[in-house]
Amino acid sequence: MVRESSPTHDIMRAVQVLRSGGLVAFPTETVYGLGADAENGTAIKRIFTTKGRPTTHPLIIHVGSLDELSTWVEKVPAAARALAEHFWPGPLSLVLQRSRRVPLAVTGGLETVAVRVPAHPVALALLRAFGGAIAAPSANHFGCVSPTTACHVQSDLGDAVDLVLDGGLCNVGVESTIVDATSEELCILRPGGVAREDLEHALGRAIPEKQTKASVRVPGSHRSHYAPRAQVILVDPSRLIDEAHRLTSCGYQVGILLPHDIAPDSVAARKILQAPESLTDYAQMLYQFLREFDRSGCNRVIASLPSEEGVGVAIADRLRRAAEPRGTIKTFKLPQTLEELCKS
Ligand code: AMP
Ligand code: MG
Repeated sequence: MVRESSPTHDIMRAVQVLRSGGLVAFPTETVYGLGADAENGTAIKRIFTTKGRPTTHPLIIHVGSLDELSTWVEKVPAAARALAEHFWPGPLSLVLQRSRRVPLAVTGGLETVAVRVPAHPVALALLRAFGGAIAAPSANHFGCVSPTTACHVQSDLGDAVDLVLDGGLCNVGVESTIVDATSEELCILRPGGVAREDLEHALGRAIPEKQTKASVRVPGSHRSHYAPRAQVILVDPSRLIDEAHRLTSCGYQVGILLPHDIAPDSVAARKILQAPESLTDYAQMLYQFLREFDRSGCNRVIASLPSEEGVGVAIADRLRRAAEPRGTIKTFKLPQTLEELCKS
């Protein structure tokens, strides 16, 4: 059930659901999370089965403030503390040595855990009222497009979730940046809402571009991920219009994610959505756009990568993964329209 956010009784109801081992979907500034009490093994198991997610893919735990960090991790290296102080609450997850309170079910068997303090008033109110850590991956089926509204959660997971808190459209729109901060030698495991440049500026030093630490597994880095039902095809912007014509003449239902600087009237397709010029706005809309193409009946989506600066790196990463062949990732039957589902 989708509920309007805010009223205290909704938060208290959500806390009751978490305490009794249930699942609560809640808004964060990145995407909606599918939350469970991080210390309840049965509830954690339910997250994996609800999402169809392999149990070796560790979950990020969410806490209400930086002060709680030491409860959930063994030690906090100076660089990790500096980043947490600078970016929390915010879209940055830090991978640190787990404390005994974090079950291995949460970490996919790893001795490390990813932690963050989300910057969304509903998420913070929930975390503070709950008092513990909430383990939460995105509230959607594994491999598919992440939800940025409560309506998306409802259409993806429906009654499999005990309660959905509605906090409107997520501000950031793509997942958190994940940094391995187990030592002073930092490594970006996944680009996200906090840009590399901003991390480096806050630290006063560069973070090495590609550092492969043999000990670190990056399980969320499946090549195919964040994918709509339609097949995403990445092309150079100069080829976009020709490619749209070619696919349309082959009988495909073509969607175009048009770069901000190409006039929409120069191209014909079943659905054209134009990327905003601001990368921040683009990130916020990206998953909505991918869902909109599916909803409009497109079976091919042509897109070009944005400039890879700031949050553009995360947008490009998600588009590349969306365009990867599906491999073993299951596709799920989605309802005909989100509106229909949200009305029902
Ligand atoms: P999400 O898929 O958005 O729920 O984000 C969770 C992702 O965070 C995982 O799939 C991993 O890529 C990453 N992650 C979480 N915990 C760890 C960890 N302990 N070590 C390395 N990566 C982690
Ligand atoms: Mg996810």
